[in-house]
Amino acid sequence: MSTHGTDPQLSERMQGANTREQVLATVGIISAHAENVHIEATRHGRHDLELDINRILAAARDLTNRVERLIDADTLATWSMGGLHPAAQHALRHELRTPLNAIKGYGEMLQEDLADQRGTPLQAAVDHLVSAANDLLVLFDRLVALSVRKSRPGATGEEAPTTVASDKPQGSLRDRDTSSAAVQSGTILIVDDNEANRDLLSRRLTRDGYRVSMAVGGQAALDALADADFDLVLLDLMMPDINGLEVLQRMKADVRLRMVPVIMITASAEMHSAIHCIEAGAEDYLPKPFDPVLLRARIGACLEKKRWRDREQDYLRRLEAHTKDLQESLKQQTATSELLKVIGRSIFDLQSVFELLVEYCVKLCESEHAFILRFDGRVLRLVAHHDVLPDMKGYVERNPIPPGRGSGAGRAVLERRTIHIADIRNDPEYTYYGTLAVPLRTVLSVPMLRGDEVLGVIAINRYEVRPFTASQIALMETFADQAVIAIENVRLFEEVQARTQELGRSVAELKALGEVSQAVNSTIDLKTVLATIVAKAVQLSDTEAGTIYVLHEESGEFELRSTYGMDEALIAGFKGKPIRIGDKTVVDQATVQRVAVQIADLQHDDASRVHNAILRAGFRALLTIPLLGVDRIVGALVVRRRRPGEFPKDTVELLQTFAAQSVLAIQNARLFHEIEQKSRELEIASQHKSQFVANMSHELRTPLAAMLGYAELLQEGIYGAPPEKFMPILTRMRSNGKHLLGLINTVLDISKIEAGQFKLNIGEYALGSIVETVMVATESLAATKKLAFKTEVAKGLPYGLGDEQRVTQVLLNLVGNAIKFTDAGEVRITAGAANGHFKLSVSDTGPGIPAEECERIFEKFRQVDSSNTRAKGGTGLGLAIAREIVEMHGGRIWVESTLGQGSTFRMELPVRAPVAAGAA
Ligand code: ADP
Repeated sequence: MSTHGTDPQLSERMQGANTREQVLATVGIISAHAENVHIEATRHGRHDLELDINRILAAARDLTNRVERLIDADTLATWSMGGLHPAAQHALRHELRTPLNAIKGYGEMLQEDLADQRGTPLQAAVDHLVSAANDLLVLFDRLVALSVRKSRPGATGEEAPTTVASDKPQGSLRDRDTSSAAVQSGTILIVDDNEANRDLLSRRLTRDGYRVSMAVGGQAALDALADADFDLVLLDLMMPDINGLEVLQRMKADVRLRMVPVIMITASAEMHSAIHCIEAGAEDYLPKPFDPVLLRARIGACLEKKRWRDREQDYLRRLEAHTKDLQESLKQQTATSELLKVIGRSIFDLQSVFELLVEYCVKLCESEHAFILRFDGRVLRLVAHHDVLPDMKGYVERNPIPPGRGSGAGRAVLERRTIHIADIRNDPEYTYYGTLAVPLRTVLSVPMLRGDEVLGVIAINRYEVRPFTASQIALMETFADQAVIAIENVRLFEEVQARTQELGRSVAELKALGEVSQAVNSTIDLKTVLATIVAKAVQLSDTEAGTIYVLHEESGEFELRSTYGMDEALIAGFKGKPIRIGDKTVVDQATVQRVAVQIADLQHDDASRVHNAILRAGFRALLTIPLLGVDRIVGALVVRRRRPGEFPKDTVELLQTFAAQSVLAIQNARLFHEIEQKSRELEIASQHKSQFVANMSHELRTPLAAMLGYAELLQEGIYGAPPEKFMPILTRMRSNGKHLLGLINTVLDISKIEAGQFKLNIGEYALGSIVETVMVATESLAATKKLAFKTEVAKGLPYGLGDEQRVTQVLLNLVGNAIKFTDAGEVRITAGAANGHFKLSVSDTGPGIPAEECERIFEKFRQVDSSNTRAKGGTGLGLAIAREIVEMHGGRIWVESTLGQGSTFRMELPVRAPVAAGAA
């Protein structure tokens, strides 16, 4: 650089020298004030300020040294040239400023500390110190500006921002400082390689209520940011290791740190770089030395912004979470409803429901795999799985899980609640997989509960430690519920199915039993009954052949009575080798032990000769049911099946019912047979009796008639006039004889009726004369009882066809009864004809007949009141004979009566009795 000067060069040199002198002088003043502050502080006994004052003294010494070195060196010419050498410029921009900033900064701190000491020499000394420091800063700025103009002639003053701090009036600072009592919140990281800067900033900010951390360089700052959260970073631009811009760029590239606001700390000369930083994402900048007001304002604004941003972030996060929740629950709902649809469809297929479930579990719960295990009351067994590692699957299949604390699923069964283990490696009780290396970490097991009963467990797992969210757990619980519903559905369906089948079977059985009962009840033919029973038994027991044996008690041999599904040869073979009590055949065993005996497979049985024949006929299994009476063996029912195997319990029970029916049928048949036999014998006996009675009556009648005839002859004096006193005796003899004859006739009639030998003598008769005859015969009886006797016979009655004598007998009986039972009043006979019928009635004013007796008195030997009738006499046979006679004529007879008023016996006879009706 040329040192040959012109006039303007001279003036500049002069100015340079002047400036140098000014700088040296100001530095000297600063040192002096610093000394003075020290002395005054000591004098005031303010040892608390000693540390800061020492720092000021050290900085003043540093400043003096640097200035002297700068001026002593070859820079002298440069100084005098006005335009600064780059080294000098750097010194002015940085090196000299550092101690000067410290002096100013600590000075200002002292000012604040001494705010209440206004007017003291100490306070004045501090004021002087700060103002001298400000002066020097102004000088430095001026010098830098000057040299910049020199080196870059076109440049404007854009790069000469005056130090904001130094422009501020000092007084107002203090006022604001003291008034700012609000406690700030926030954690601030100060990054500066200069200790004094760090110290000053941190003290100021701590005093303002912030939490402060410090980092000495770029790397340290990044480390601190990685370790803890900060609300704000104050970042020095110029640092030896990683400069501020780079730290800023790295922060902005890091998602986690991007949002942390950064305020750049810059020397006033670094404005250009500061703008760079703001472009790179810094929030703001703070020029050194720090103006406390600006510092506070910028930090406050920045933190406020950060708080808003945080709030916004938080809101966004919450919104996002909410949206995610919504999406998740939508997904879950969709899955749930799809699942329900499948459950509804797959009543027949539980497995496909389980498989869908495990798939959904993995999809919706972000799990690595899912299991469904069914609990059989003892252990849990794997029934469905999704994405399970083959090793684990094999292990679970080989090792069913018992209830217990050793596994998530076992624990879920034990405690009947959802088990969530965040990390099984931290759970000493979890031992299920033993030595098998499994990547399992987080485990969730949900029991499938029906009431208190555990049906199974649904489990999902993760290979990392990441607990499931509440909504995932809730979803799993829903899935477990749905699994239970599916299981229940299937169970109910199967139950209904089983019931329906059972019902179907019962209906078939009932029908068969009905048919059998019907056969038993209606068919006297035992052969048909047994054939029905054996056929139904074979059909319902799902067998192919059957036999009913009946024990012949005398011979002790089981007689083959009925077969079904057996060919002639086999039957013949059976008949050729009879079974006996005590021969140890199944029939013998079953009947003697009174239990059903079955052979599930004849091939593996100690085959008897009979079994061989059955085997040859193609049968493999047989079931023998004993037929048992109360106190004896009736026989046995045997069914045979081509398929080997046990007979189900219900088949055995069903056949036992059939066996009981068979016993009934056989016994019924026996009884019926006996009864038939007896009645045949009885009938013969009765015929003999009737014949005897008929004969006897007939035989009795002949001598009686002779006796009556002789008595009449005696009375009529054929053998000479009898003495007068014999007469009434003869009369009584005759009447008793007649009565006896009447009785014999009645007995004779009845026995004829019973013997089927009662015959009518059909001929023409006049009803009027019959009435006349009866009246003549009974008139005297009525008269002796003082009863009025009336007859009303219609005129012009036709001649009737019938047995005159028998009709007379009927009418005589009715009139006789009327007179016999009536004590006062009248007896009336009426006779008429209408519609081809004679209508006759005999009424009396006697005691009447109770309604319930009106029909019964027409039965043999029936009398209303035997005691009363005994008084009146009678056999109770008259009306029975009368009805027989009337009915033989094709007519009818009945009585109408009111108790206490009398009775009317009525009779209708066809005028012309049908000739066939018993005509001889
Ligand atoms: P009986 O020889 O006893 O008269 P009947 O067969 O003629 O036998 O009559 C049966 C019974 O009917 C009588 O015993 C009597 O109790 C009742 N009976 C018949 N006719 C009359 C009547 N007119 N009034 C009251 N009871 C009568």
